[in-house]
Amino acid sequence: MSLLERPSSCCGHDHGPSIARLLAEAEAACRARGVRLTDQRRDVLHALLEHGHPLGAYDLIEKLRPATGRSPAPIVIYRALDFLQQQGLIHRLETLNAFIACPHHHRAGERIAFLICETCSHVDEVAAKEIDVALQGLATRHGFSTNRTVIEMAGTCRACRTASEARAS
Ligand SMILES: [Zn+2]
Ligand SMILES: [Zn+2]
Repeated sequence: MSLLERPSSCCGHDHGPSIARLLAEAEAACRARGVRLTDQRRDVLHALLEHGHPLGAYDLIEKLRPATGRSPAPIVIYRALDFLQQQGLIHRLETLNAFIACPHHHRAGERIAFLICETCSHVDEVAAKEIDVALQGLATRHGFSTNRTVIEMAGTCRACRTASEARAS
């Protein structure tokens, strides 16, 4: 089955615009910045968009294994992941050591909290401006200079909670 034939909605969540449209948008964004979405980078982004949920680098390699049965070299995948991260097209989820495609085109410096559902693997991205302000204040009070801030929460998403409540009643 081609990657594009799979329905974009796989788990009851709305995964938003079609993969083809998101890939075209990513290509246009790269072109506008004077960088190239090579076939390899595009394939990695496509696989993450199609999967819709977080994928580890080695799961990605498995997914990208071409018909010949040869897997792409890990270094090639890691480089593509680095590029896609730099371009804001994917996120790395630290607590899962996995990657997820991002269709949101965040503003520079925008703070995002990731809500990771442990039941269905869906990840929600929510704006976390207040938390960011609080964390900055905390760091400043401790004379700490921050290079990187990660806000990830693991738990149960609304859809899974609703489903389990419906089963219980
Ligand atoms: Zn995002
Ligand atoms: Zn869920």
